[in-house]
Amino acid sequence: MIDTDELTGRNAEFADGGSFVGLGLMPSGSLTVIGCVDPRVDPSDVLALRLGEAAVIRNVGGRVTPATLRTLGMLSKVVRARTDGSRRGDVHYAVLHHTDCGITDLAAFPDLLADYFEVPAGDLDARAVTDPVAAVRVDVDVLKQGLPAGVFVSGLVYDVATGLIDVVVPPARVEA
Ligand SMILES: [Zn+2]
Repeated sequence: MIDTDELTGRNAEFADGGSFVGLGLMPSGSLTVIGCVDPRVDPSDVLALRLGEAAVIRNVGGRVTPATLRTLGMLSKVVRARTDGSRRGDVHYAVLHHTDCGITDLAAFPDLLADYFEVPAGDLDARAVTDPVAAVRVDVDVLKQGLPAGVFVSGLVYDVATGLIDVVVPPARVEA
């Protein structure tokens, strides 16, 4: 395993690098990424995000669940507490799904997924858990319903075999 000696050693190197100095809480890239917990798909790596550039929410599948929306609601309160409410430039929410996602294995457990999405098990087909391209379209739509007008939302699918993302849903502004 990677033990705490290893972790503190790696952290000391990070701290020496100084990339953390002076960063603010607000993401400098005005970007929020919703992605999967899969260790192969860390948005910081696959999207080359720099420290402080984006807020990242990760869950099983990178899905926009009611819990995801509650998290975003909490973050909007933090933003209001830390700013005067004005925004610097356009705000972008990117949903990042991927091929070979473990959530497809959970299709065998509809009750678990029904709890996750907080829907009746009979409605799970609409969540497209076995198809990342369809799922990212679904989640962009769900996310748009939970975000204020004016922000941009996109849907990406990362291919674990090629290392490349496909822009399934190009960034589009949430309508008023
Ligand atoms: Zn996954």
